[in-house]
Amino acid sequence: MKIAFFSTKSYDRTYMDQMNEQFSHKLSYFDTGLRSETAVLAQDHPAVCIFVNDQADDETLEALQSQGVKLLALRSAGFNHVNLDKAQELGIRVVRVPAYSPHAVAEHTLAMILTLNRKTHLAYDRVRDGNFSLERLMGFVLHDRTVGVIGTGVIGRTFARLMQGVGCRVVAFDPYPNEELQQQGVEFLELPALFAESDIISLHCPLNKETHYIINEQAIDQMKDDVMLINTSRGGLVDTKAVVKALKHHKIGYFGLDVYEQEENIFFEDLSGSIIQDDIITRLMTFPNVLITSHQAFFTQEAMTSIAKTTLQNVRDFEEEKELENEVCPAEK
Ligand code: NAD
Repeated sequence: MKIAFFSTKSYDRTYMDQMNEQFSHKLSYFDTGLRSETAVLAQDHPAVCIFVNDQADDETLEALQSQGVKLLALRSAGFNHVNLDKAQELGIRVVRVPAYSPHAVAEHTLAMILTLNRKTHLAYDRVRDGNFSLERLMGFVLHDRTVGVIGTGVIGRTFARLMQGVGCRVVAFDPYPNEELQQQGVEFLELPALFAESDIISLHCPLNKETHYIINEQAIDQMKDDVMLINTSRGGLVDTKAVVKALKHHKIGYFGLDVYEQEENIFFEDLSGSIIQDDIITRLMTFPNVLITSHQAFFTQEAMTSIAKTTLQNVRDFEEEKELENEVCPAEK
């Protein structure tokens, strides 16, 4: 089947081309993101493949439908960027890659915690500059600290187990508490108790109407002083302005973000020669206790292989009119 890929980078092409030797789809790659104005590029392609910062809103979906698009294949687990009701109304089916590598994201989350805590990002620069002082590099021992996990799906569960491996007490909140995790010693709490008891809080829930700004000023007020907050899930879970305020008042002691609510024109791009227009991210970049990575938590050889395989299989299943195992329907929202 002919597939139009939007927002592609060299690594997407490498992994898709390699995997496609087993599928023989016809792949067209576009650097540009999917918007209503760029949907015309999908002409003659029954399938379109998009990534996390492409926008499949009403207008774009209508434009895709008018080009004859029948399948929207997301090369991501999250689907908050797609209006599923509208897609269904237009007869465009939506598939995703549900769990391509929970270890990739969980391990990146741990890396962010260790970096922020032991300040290896500061030490790296300092030593290269001939400065071997330990001033302001002190960390704390993770063993016995309490880690609060919000969302215990595949990634949250993997992360919870990693933190137990480090010797942390793990508490969690999820509307559907996981029995296996409970048996492994994870205590499920309501959000206010999780906020009050956690030294480190890590977000692993999807972005939807209920979870938008789950971390806001009121939530931050309930947290311990000097708390570490990590977001590797979706930017819209965090009211970033409230976090900046809390960082300035030393309420939040550490902030690690791999996702940002306004990331779509910033992340994945080399802006080193530009004037960055977003005043919130530039403010965040000035804090020594903030670590920003550019939506790279998934970015491993294993995840890229798995994304390519599942995406191309999803399209093959659609082409062969098989049941779509990874279909996303409005009810899942
Ligand atoms: P998942 O669907 O397996 O798990 C999500 C969990 O969140 C479920 O257990 C669900 O019950 C829970 N949840 C739903 N509403 C909640 C709420 N209000 N409060 C707390 N928990 C709630 O998803 P997953 O594969 O574990 O992925 C989690 C998120 O990670 C995705 O939504 C995606 O946004 C993000 N992600 C980020 C990257 C990255 O590179 N940074 C990569 C993959 C996924």
